[in-house]
Amino acid sequence: MTKRLEADEYVAGVRAGDRGVLARAITLVESQREDDQRLARTVVAALLPDTGRARRVGITGVPGVGKSSLIEALGTHLTKTGHRVAVLAVDPSSPRSGGSILGDKTRMTALARDPAAFVRPSPSLGALGGVARHTREALLLCEAAGFDVVLVETVGVGQSEAMVAQLVDCFLVLLLAGAGDELQGIKRGILELVDVLAITKADGENVVTANRARAEFAAALHLVRAKHAEWSAPVLTCSALTGDGIAKLWAAIEAHRAAMIAAGTFATERARQQVHWMWRAIEAGLLRRFAADPKVVAMVAELEAAVRAGSVSPDHAAGELLAAFTG
Ligand code: GDP
Repeated sequence: MTKRLEADEYVAGVRAGDRGVLARAITLVESQREDDQRLARTVVAALLPDTGRARRVGITGVPGVGKSSLIEALGTHLTKTGHRVAVLAVDPSSPRSGGSILGDKTRMTALARDPAAFVRPSPSLGALGGVARHTREALLLCEAAGFDVVLVETVGVGQSEAMVAQLVDCFLVLLLAGAGDELQGIKRGILELVDVLAITKADGENVVTANRARAEFAAALHLVRAKHAEWSAPVLTCSALTGDGIAKLWAAIEAHRAAMIAAGTFATERARQQVHWMWRAIEAGLLRRFAADPKVVAMVAELEAAVRAGSVSPDHAAGELLAAFTG
């Protein structure tokens, strides 16, 4: 990692919209080091008054659905109409394989070169909860740097969508026409998070199947309880290749925002998310302290071995360790 700046240098650079400093500030919030974390907290706290004004949009879908192509098309459409667009990713990389699903560097090349855009490669390996928390701080930094649209991308393969839904105002799910629901991993859980659904690659021969899929998904969505009474998720079609439907997709995201603001839900949702992240930070902090506690350290290996051997129950071992920690 390059040399750290002083807190006020990060703050001034981010506030001035300096993309280099923004990138370094995000690296700081992602750092595992305790002193970096302290510095990061100071920087984020100083910039807090400059945050909160962006459209925060989550985008999910299975690998190959066309996320990066769509983000490129949508992002370019937005920068052309005067927006400043930041793209962040929550990548459920597997710490075991070291593999990353989203993270190759060739993605979104046009947007990455666009002076009105900022594309952040996926954060390095780490527990998903931690990655999501750092993504929230990265999002705040992007807002302070003047980006008025922040797109948060994730792969639809598990818990990451639920976390991203806690970071954003509008959650967009991308689907492929023709692939079965099961194949796309469309679980009820994801449909309950969705604010806008879009069938991708609706171009050429795909247009007919895309329209059919749109009708099917619209019918399926009717069976799912709406996330909010004031908004029923529309199902759209779009093509990153031709640009068809991209403007309409953005219009739907804006309509969702307007409906939420009019109903008062926008503010209550953001407030609820703040509390959510407070508790996630408490969890992470407690776990760190717990794992570093000398009494815990002295007992944990033996208890783990006993649990592994089946001679002590997991609950009993946890109880012993927690008692040692708090006692
Ligand atoms: P991701 O894995 O979800 O990020 O998907 P990509 O954006 O990398 O796209 C996967 C593949 O679908 C690539 O080969 C793209 O060229 C193709 N693709 C993406 N968007 C479109 C589209 O709008 N129309 C067509 N025909 N192909 C597309």
